[in-house]
Amino acid sequence: MGEQAGPYSIGSDVWPGASRLIEECGELMQVLGKLIGSGGATAHWDGTDLRARLTDELADVRAALDYFIFANSMPDAAIADRADKKRAQYERWHHGDN
Ligand SMILES: [Mg+2]
Repeated sequence: MGEQAGPYSIGSDVWPGASRLIEECGELMQVLGKLIGSGGATAHWDGTDLRARLTDELADVRAALDYFIFANSMPDAAIADRADKKRAQYERWHHGDN
């Protein structure tokens, strides 16, 4: 990376990791699209296991997100606090609460 890093890439001075985060989110969306297309079945027509691919892409997104937060000095505590609240809201929705 280093000297070849363009803006927004890992190693740059301009929003480092932004391009990687977008790329990984795209890969996650691709796998989720395949899962939706298969009606939820995890055995993909190309022989791969969509649950395994989903596991990989979730990890990639988490790593890219964690790196982006760190590399851009984003407010980690505020992000964690909001994420906790959002997560709790999703749990309530899942159980039919508001
Ligand atoms: Mg990936």
